[in-house]
Amino acid sequence: MTIAIVGAGLGGLALARMLHVKGIDAVVYEREPSRDARGQGGMLDIHSGQRALREAGLLDRFHAIARPEGQDMRLLEPDGTLLLQEDTPDDAPSLRPEVDRADLRDLLLDSVPEGTVRWGHAFESAGDGVLHFADGRTATYDLLVGADGAQSRVRALLTDARPVHIGQNVVEVGIPDVDRTHPDLAAMVGRGNYWVLGDGKSLSAQRNGDGRVRIGVSFYNTAENWFATSGIPFDDPAAARARLIDLLAGWDPRFTALIAACDDTVVPRSITTLPIGLTWPSTPGVTLIGDAAHLMPPVGEGANMALLDGVLLALALAAHPDGFPAAVEEYEREMFERTGAAGRMSADMQELLMSPDAARRMLAFFQPG
Ligand SMILES: Cc1cc2nc3c(=O)[nH]c(=O)nc-3n(C[C@H](O)[C@H](O)[C@H](O)COP(=O)(O)OP(=O)(O)OC[C@H]3O[C@@H](n4cnc5c(N)ncnc54)[C@H](O)[C@@H]3O)c2cc1C
Repeated sequence: MTIAIVGAGLGGLALARMLHVKGIDAVVYEREPSRDARGQGGMLDIHSGQRALREAGLLDRFHAIARPEGQDMRLLEPDGTLLLQEDTPDDAPSLRPEVDRADLRDLLLDSVPEGTVRWGHAFESAGDGVLHFADGRTATYDLLVGADGAQSRVRALLTDARPVHIGQNVVEVGIPDVDRTHPDLAAMVGRGNYWVLGDGKSLSAQRNGDGRVRIGVSFYNTAENWFATSGIPFDDPAAARARLIDLLAGWDPRFTALIAACDDTVVPRSITTLPIGLTWPSTPGVTLIGDAAHLMPPVGEGANMALLDGVLLALALAAHPDGFPAAVEEYEREMFERTGAAGRMSADMQELLMSPDAARRMLAFFQPG
């Protein structure tokens, strides 16, 4: 029986790793040409996903690359008021450490046998046990697992659902080598997450393992085509920074100083999600894991769910060696319930972030009563 996984992201690789531990072969088809073809983005906070890494025998290796100090948090209002500062004591348990996404993906890639990932295979369609790739190549499968992320093409084999814009547009910028280039801003942001919430916008800054501070400026309750009307010239980074600073008029100058210090990488990102609690009738021979199955607002659950999906599907397949359909059904039943709950929690957090009194509500969330 041939298991074909489309997508070498966190979910697809967790599945391949757990299958390998259980002595089951799988092939991962990835459209990127190589492991370093594309930057993997910033930090992920890994909490429930640690269970998946433990099952996959990777927890020690994970803790060796994780940054517990990344759990530090500062919460502020646009006028500069510091509402909350939490610094992680050295001996605190690593319940939600941050990890560089590229490091976590490398850890997973190194944990599967050489040749498991077939790079440069962009999946196009599947039917009658045959996968078709963009360059005309084909491959056979008995079970197809779509681990191909937010814009999944495999998803269409199971459901008509598509990601929908949720009224948030983010501009991503960053300060490289912050300790050397801007020690004052490095001290202000600290070792972990720095949040400024208010008036329909937010600024989140986060120190990454490589010394870069990644900054996301979010504009809430904005339309899907907002970037086109925002006046941000993405092809002129200096002018884009100046426009961002204009859009934060009235904010404390320390926050706009962060934007002024950024380099020329300016990336627009529109936030979309799948319907919360999305399900589909179980179909022999194909299933989904990760964002392909349950794309949620980016508030810290997606990567954890993708890791769990991959590992739990592998365990179900190992428990039903002669029955893929039963294994897939068992996996999907648990996955729908678990990720539905995570999706509802993420939607509540998203609603909080989008509200006019987001900073005070966030403070109440962290300091109830
Ligand atoms: C800014 C941001 C911050 C986030 N922070 C967190 C966080 O702190 N904690 C958290 O838990 N989650 C976080 N998330 C969510 C998390 O990144 C995702 O939920 C997670 O990466 C999903 O993993 P995945 O394996 O399903 O998909 P991905 O990691 O997106 O991997 C999909 C893979 O499929 C490949 N692929 C796509 N199409 C094809 C095709 N046609 N053929 C072949 N291959 C294909 C892609 O190249 C990619 O390698 C964040 C998301 C964003 C946007």
